[in-house]
Amino acid sequence: MAQISLDKLAHSYVAKPQTDADFALKQIDYVWQDGGAYALLGPSGCGKTTLLNIISGLLTPSKGHIRFDDDDVTLRSPEQRNIAQVFQFPVIYDTMTVEQNLAFPLVNRGVARSEIDRRVADMLDTLDLKDKARQRARGLSADEKQKISLGRGLVRYDVNAILFDEPLTVIDPHMKWQLRTKLKQLHEQFGHTMIYVTHDQTEALTFADKVVVMYEGEVVQIGTPEELFDEPAHTFVGYFIGSPGMNVLPCEVDKNIVHMAGAKFTLNKGYADLVGKLEIGIRPEFIDVKSAAEANGAGVAIQVTAVENIGRHKIVRGTVNGYAIDVLTDEDQSIPSDAYAVFNTSRFNVYQNSHLVRAHS
Ligand code: ADP
Ligand code: MG
Repeated sequence: MAQISLDKLAHSYVAKPQTDADFALKQIDYVWQDGGAYALLGPSGCGKTTLLNIISGLLTPSKGHIRFDDDDVTLRSPEQRNIAQVFQFPVIYDTMTVEQNLAFPLVNRGVARSEIDRRVADMLDTLDLKDKARQRARGLSADEKQKISLGRGLVRYDVNAILFDEPLTVIDPHMKWQLRTKLKQLHEQFGHTMIYVTHDQTEALTFADKVVVMYEGEVVQIGTPEELFDEPAHTFVGYFIGSPGMNVLPCEVDKNIVHMAGAKFTLNKGYADLVGKLEIGIRPEFIDVKSAAEANGAGVAIQVTAVENIGRHKIVRGTVNGYAIDVLTDEDQSIPSDAYAVFNTSRFNVYQNSHLVRAHS
């Protein structure tokens, strides 16, 4: 196994890239710790597969280097890098049995028969495919085939890393949860570096210790699920993670005074002089809905436009001084007719041109 370093890596599918926009992957420098469980999260088209294929060796980057420990592997193939990759759609041999498919990567590497048998039996068990072991893959359903694909990546134990590119897309929802849990267990058991690509925040946050969030070819934040929730580095992260996502409202900031949605807030922290586009990010979890009497001068009147019950919570959607906001309340919270949105100002994040600004004091 190895630590994987990306050094000034960038990629363009255009032969002679001219501008930033020509790059599917803008410059990234990052070290993936040996044995880490990572998720690569972002909307479709943001460059996740491009980055993953560069790490595995399917794609040669137009700029920069990739190292496994001290070895420069930029020009090496996936086989030479000893990486297992599981794709979105099944890559299996239709004419082989399930068992033979799972054994294949091990047979190829000259692993002893007894070890192969043991590992294949384990994997059949893990994937709940024991009763299909002797069947040819051809006749199986799409999600069974994809499970074999996963298994072919996971049976290998000598790999530097296992990469997953949205591997559960074709798997049914119940099995999805089960397989994700299993992946996490396998990670704990064998300690392989795993990089898991997904556009689904739940998948990313439940699988990974560290989530790498991408947006338009750029890594906008790398952090634990808590860090992404508490202090999104970019308004996109705040909006993309959480449901509903973080509210983002234009504001003016003068040291510890914030003007937002026609109201004035005094913070217990101050900011240096800020220029450019300024916004407050505040998560729906950190806003309360109260009656005018309860609010007692705090907060801003909210025109409620919709209330959605989502189990133990309600999402209250509305506007404050014309700006749309979402509020998350307990399910038994009543919504008064003279509702005020009361903000937990200690949870305000200030953004300058979409990037988080740290307070001075
Ligand atoms: P993701 O996996 O996050 O959906 P991709 O890495 O597949 O994103 O794509 C990133 C960008 O690169 C997209 O704009 C996509 O259209 C473009 N792209 C991906 N593969 C190719 C390719 N083989 N040739 C040209 N452009 C590509
Ligand atoms: Mg992709």
